[in-house]
Amino acid sequence: MSWQDVVVAEKLITEKVPELAVSLSSIVMDIPYDPKAKSNIVGRTLPWKLRLSRKYEGVLSDAVAVDLFNTLIHESIHKCSNLFKAIWDFLHPLHPEVYKRADELTALLKDEYLARRRMP
Ligand SMILES: [Zn+2]
Repeated sequence: MSWQDVVVAEKLITEKVPELAVSLSSIVMDIPYDPKAKSNIVGRTLPWKLRLSRKYEGVLSDAVAVDLFNTLIHESIHKCSNLFKAIWDFLHPLHPEVYKRADELTALLKDEYLARRRMP
């Protein structure tokens, strides 16, 4: 269940990387997803809201769950940066340092994440 995957991910992020903690009430899964499109936006963040793609709805494979985890970390970095940086990144969608940090944190935490999401 993908919302439970978000809850597990957010709890782990809050524990391990508290500076990236985001309130669950500010997260919504409402970005349209088209499986036939070449590329889809999977996350988008405004100062008051963190939006995720509908791609992550339903029962997720481990690979898609890790993708969700990576996207949530990436968007949390935006949400927790200062307003100037958040606007800068919004206007410059290729922000390699955000991708790099999200990838590093995903690599570090994904085994723990996958183990926890299997727990009843
Ligand atoms: Zn970004």
